[in-house]
Amino acid sequence: AQDQLRQAQKMEAVGQLTGGLAHDFNNLLTAISGSLELIQTRIRQGKVESVDRYVNMAQQAAKRAAALTHRLLAFSRRQTLDPRPTAINRLIASLDDLLRRSVGPGIEIEIVGAGGLWTTSVDPNQLENALLNLCINARDAMPEGGRITIETANKWLDDTAARERDLPPGQYVSLCVTDTGTGMTAETIERAFDPFFTTKPLGEGTGLGLSMIYGFVRQSGGQVRIYSELGQGTTMCLYLPRCYDEAEAEPTAEPGIALDGT
Ligand code: ADP
Repeated sequence: AQDQLRQAQKMEAVGQLTGGLAHDFNNLLTAISGSLELIQTRIRQGKVESVDRYVNMAQQAAKRAAALTHRLLAFSRRQTLDPRPTAINRLIASLDDLLRRSVGPGIEIEIVGAGGLWTTSVDPNQLENALLNLCINARDAMPEGGRITIETANKWLDDTAARERDLPPGQYVSLCVTDTGTGMTAETIERAFDPFFTTKPLGEGTGLGLSMIYGFVRQSGGQVRIYSELGQGTTMCLYLPRCYDEAEAEPTAEPGIALDGT
């Protein structure tokens, strides 16, 4: 019976993982078909010279989709994921086009805080998926359009700054995605990380995005926080473990100072 229980739990974990991958895969397919549509429009308009950018975008999304399937295969072979020193500002910059394409027209994306590289130790593919997911959720919360702000704190957070944010002691880099959308009720906030919890119409939401993000961030030694106000908008913050990087050591940086994103 013990074994059966363990097996059932394992199957559930696999179900959640594959469901989550399918969700990310779907996001990428949306980006690809969006790019293809644009290419078609441009060709019909006779503006063939401007399609290059969209071809690149489709290619980038296709490559990421391939990376996702590799992850699934890796999982079935029981390989672990691959955390590496990852400069979050660089990662955000590299996704700029894909993110804008994925959220579509009517939504402005602002990227704030290119102050440094801010290195964390995570699986970069997972962080990319998380960021794409957060932006798509933000878009879904703004049916009339609005603005998404992607912000990294201009310094890493020290113990004091962590305490102010109600985080366990440690050093973090932060990545926050803010929207000007509907906001969330207290009940939605409470359940948002539950697998399969969704407030979206059938067929539109899987309820897996945030639970995957939560699992990945916690597994990486980080924290996720939701700050939301009904009718005002939502900020989703990932606090990821800071990974010391020689390249960003500054003689003036004083870890004793409370450093935040403002
Ligand atoms: P899905 O997006 O498939 O519904 P998620 O796990 O990503 O699944 O999100 C769960 C729920 O959390 C959403 O259905 C929505 O109610 C809420 N939510 C997530 N992000 C936001 C946001 N930026 N603004 C408002 N609500 C959100």
